[in-house]
Amino acid sequence: MKKIICPVCGAEYTFQEIFIPSNFMGNITNVNRDNNGKIIDYIGKDMDLKESYRCDYCDCKFNVTASIDFICKSPVVDFKKEHKTKLNRPQLKFKED
Ligand SMILES: [Zn+2]
Repeated sequence: MKKIICPVCGAEYTFQEIFIPSNFMGNITNVNRDNNGKIIDYIGKDMDLKESYRCDYCDCKFNVTASIDFICKSPVVDFKKEHKTKLNRPQLKFKED
């Protein structure tokens, strides 16, 4: 679990205690893209990664900025090579007489 720590007294908070989900996530409803899938513009409110909070233990006010990265990976698929798909469950085998 990621913790948010008061910079004055060290009290620990969860993300859910500090951030307001609707503000954090934003609300984008309409995204316009070009022919290559690049975003041109959108309607709505982007993510708000900053929040302030008054500590329950020392009463100081502190600011929190979330840092989010999106890691996108794709396996390089060579369709010329033989491809095997791994199954999570054992394969059933049937004997034919
Ligand atoms: Zn504190």
